[in-house]
Amino acid sequence: MHNNFLGLCALIFLASCQEQTQTAPEAPAPDGPQPIVHAEYQGTEPTTPEETEFYEPAVPVVNPTGQNGIPSDAIVLFDGTNFDAWEMVNDSTEVVWHLNGDRSMTVKDKTGDIQTRQSFGDMQLHIEWRSPAEVNGEGQHRANSGVFLNGIYEVQVLDNNDNPTYVNGQVASIYKQYVPLAMASVPSGEWNAYDIIYHMPHFNEAGEKIESGSITVIHNGVVVQDHIEIKGTTPYIGWPKNPAHGKGPLRLQDHGDNSRVSYRNIWVREL
Ligand code: MG
Repeated sequence: MHNNFLGLCALIFLASCQEQTQTAPEAPAPDGPQPIVHAEYQGTEPTTPEETEFYEPAVPVVNPTGQNGIPSDAIVLFDGTNFDAWEMVNDSTEVVWHLNGDRSMTVKDKTGDIQTRQSFGDMQLHIEWRSPAEVNGEGQHRANSGVFLNGIYEVQVLDNNDNPTYVNGQVASIYKQYVPLAMASVPSGEWNAYDIIYHMPHFNEAGEKIESGSITVIHNGVVVQDHIEIKGTTPYIGWPKNPAHGKGPLRLQDHGDNSRVSYRNIWVREL
């Protein structure tokens, strides 16, 4: 019994030594990533709960369904009644896309892209889109449109149902930059929702990018772009470019090939 007890103690001692060995912090490589230190949590360890609780500033209250079913602090960009918040990209004139009776809009072919009159930086965007139930065209020519953040970074809109294309250009891709994590489209002719969190890049006075922007896309409730780092613009041909910019409009694409893509219920919360 006595020997068993000693043996147990020895095992516990050895196990604790092993644990310490496993959890001991490794010295960082001289030129490797440095450990992250949170300065605000250094110093004397608090001994009461109150020392780590604060009350100011108070958090703004948002009614999540306070404004006809959308967050009470959202900016409504399109509720289906008019194009007041929008203009044609080419000449800043009034939008000539189709305003439908069901509170949606549809791309009017070959008239050009539209964009918001207001500029936005960091934001949460909700936008719904629908490809035609009557399918025609193949690959990139089947209900192709796009949501351009800051007017220049495209989240692809495409009818990808039984319609393969290059994966970095498929629905919910960051066009030619990031493949979506999943293909989460509803059947053609039904409404898709994109919920997008966008943070704009920042540039120094010399026009050089000093902080990358990021995009998160939730497609019909499924995370398909997870805080990706924007590498630049999203051109059809060529590398991404990084022109210096501030806030910019939200832009919707007329692909010019009879896409017939519709949009509805568009709102933004500035972050
Ligand atoms: Mg497109």
